[in-house]
Amino acid sequence: TTPLLSARNIRRIYEVPGRLFEKSARVHALDDISFDLRAGRTLAVVGESGSGKSTLARILSLLEEPDGGEIVVAGEDTRTRSQEIRKRQRSTVQMVFQNPYGSLNPRKSVGRIMEEPLFVQGFGPAQVRAERARAMLAKVGLRPEHYWRFPHMFSGGQRQRIAIGRALMLTPKIVIADEPVSALDISIQAQILNLLMDLQEEFGLSYLFISHDLSVVRVIADEVLVLYYGRLMEFGSRDAIFSNPRHPYTRTLLAAAPTISFEPEPVVLDVKVSEPPSAFALPKGCVFHPRCPMARDICREVRPEVRNVEDRLVACHFAEQRP
Ligand code: SF4
Ligand code: MG
Repeated sequence: TTPLLSARNIRRIYEVPGRLFEKSARVHALDDISFDLRAGRTLAVVGESGSGKSTLARILSLLEEPDGGEIVVAGEDTRTRSQEIRKRQRSTVQMVFQNPYGSLNPRKSVGRIMEEPLFVQGFGPAQVRAERARAMLAKVGLRPEHYWRFPHMFSGGQRQRIAIGRALMLTPKIVIADEPVSALDISIQAQILNLLMDLQEEFGLSYLFISHDLSVVRVIADEVLVLYYGRLMEFGSRDAIFSNPRHPYTRTLLAAAPTISFEPEPVVLDVKVSEPPSAFALPKGCVFHPRCPMARDICREVRPEVRNVEDRLVACHFAEQRP
């Protein structure tokens, strides 16, 4: 089957102005990232802060343009100039943000917030929009009569339900969720993940799920893509990544999360086993070499290609070896 979303060689470079007497720097936020997202599946993008995962989310949501590479959504290249296709793509791909407090307009009722995407796309009349919003409130576990309430009257978890409902109003095929549960209490996180999985089932949604939290990723992901400083380190099925990681960085992440379970107690990840490098001065060769226990001379000189090893993609000279 053809993938629903296909990303090829995505590149994003930020020009960071230098301070006094310093040259400006070019930072590769994303460097040659390729993957496919299939219908009805969840692909998790995992990485620490600064790995480029939020940049990737914005690019795939068509909020930001890449500097290179191509994105094909449902068979159509996003670089099209056709307004009709772009409009269609904007409704096919929707986004849910991390912060349920910041992403909802405090001066609008939640019903009006939910309707907004319909309004923007010229979907009417008003009464039909309102009916849809009420029905969606019920779908995400709230009540239709909450239509006239304002965001501040809801808890964090409820607000994230509203944000998710809003994202589904245009019946998208793909939802890009950037850390959608990390601002919530652990007990609430599980509820929201369950809601996301139920909605996926009901509407046949595909998720691109951005997270730094492996306990969450293990629950929700079918495939896992591991990013480090804008580069793909490893990409494979959840089982391949969790039970048989081949990239030393993936192993480092997993080792920092020894018990990955929601019960009884959550584990707070601290993946910083040593200081990560500055994005302005990325190491030569393999970008992970200063932190890698398996690094050798070649790692300091030659950047490893992304290649097929066994059942996954991995960018490591020594992916066949065990530590
Ligand atoms: Fe470690 Fe070398 Fe593999 Fe990079 S290429 S992850 S430094 S072993
Ligand atoms: Mg699933």
